[in-house]
Amino acid sequence: MTVAVLAIQGAFIEHEQMLEKLGASCFEIRQKKDLERPFDGLILPGGESTVMRKLLTDLDLSEPLREKISAGLPVFGTCAGLILLAKEVEGGLPCFGTMGIRAKRNAYGRQLGSFCVKEEFEGIGEIPMNFIRAPYIERVSEGTEILAKVDGLIVTARERNQLVTAFHPEVTGDMRVHQYFLDMIQAQNTKK
Ligand code: GLN
Repeated sequence: MTVAVLAIQGAFIEHEQMLEKLGASCFEIRQKKDLERPFDGLILPGGESTVMRKLLTDLDLSEPLREKISAGLPVFGTCAGLILLAKEVEGGLPCFGTMGIRAKRNAYGRQLGSFCVKEEFEGIGEIPMNFIRAPYIERVSEGTEILAKVDGLIVTARERNQLVTAFHPEVTGDMRVHQYFLDMIQAQNTKK
């Protein structure tokens, strides 16, 4: 199983380390020709969504990646990655716009920009959640499943092949969210 990690900006190295620990091979997508390599899943890391959106367009990566995601490629977006997938963005512009969620950027305010809690993730159990100038999900469309909430606000959702977390599971030692994503890929591969 090979997972591609978008590596144009942000916290991509931590995701690669998680994947390696879990025995999945991965490579970085930095330019269009990297898309020639086959891959079974894609991670969109945290970082700055406005910068990533611009770079994705400039590097001519937006359209080809959107097509793959729409065609069913399993994708996992964390924090800024969640914003890139959202159909609607408050305080920003959509990028791929493939997932039926409305994201609110920098939703916790500057003072409360970073914090860590333990909460229930449906299908996994209680996990540590690290928020870094995070968005939350204001609403989801029909067919999009809510997997976790913190203080009543939606922080994790899934729509078929698309998984998003407002927090950063790659900065904790807990590998269960990455394993959950690898299981999504596995399930997709068995269907093929
Ligand atoms: N605040 C960032 C944005 O809007 C997201 C922060 C993060 O990815 N840690 O893109």
